[in-house]
Amino acid sequence: MIGLMVMARGSLDAVPLGTLFPRLSAAEVQSLRCSALVVDAARTREAEPTWLWEPAHSVFPGAGPGASVILLAEITEQAERGDQLEFLLDVAWTDQAELSVSAAVSVACWCDTDHATHDVDALHLIINGETSLSQAFRAGADRLVGWLADPRDADYWRFRAGIPAR
Ligand SMILES: [Zn+2]
Repeated sequence: MIGLMVMARGSLDAVPLGTLFPRLSAAEVQSLRCSALVVDAARTREAEPTWLWEPAHSVFPGAGPGASVILLAEITEQAERGDQLEFLLDVAWTDQAELSVSAAVSVACWCDTDHATHDVDALHLIINGETSLSQAFRAGADRLVGWLADPRDADYWRFRAGIPAR
């Protein structure tokens, strides 16, 4: 999901939002920060909620394999005995140089055929004339916060998605 690049990581206070999104107004940057604060408030099981970001992606890096992620929150809830439940929220470039916001719930696959992971619920928004980045990020953050209030059990999510349990 993150790609090969090693992203910067730290608390929300350390994220240089204005540098990462140089085309946003100060008010929009503030809106992003507010949405991220709402996410962090829901990350009750993490001692230090961490964000990852890639300063080199503040400008479009060109189309290529994998998403060009700019900002990412990755919440790993369950990782024991090879099982996995992850909640993700990111801002990334599409291959068409558009900004996008994605939120997803991902679980480890226990099908007979190994798919590695499944996105069992997801939201993907492309930023265009009607949707500002701050509005899309707010929508993604709200979705993520809703998911974090649901049972944090990978089999619950697999049951909902109709895929085999562990
Ligand atoms: Zn599978």
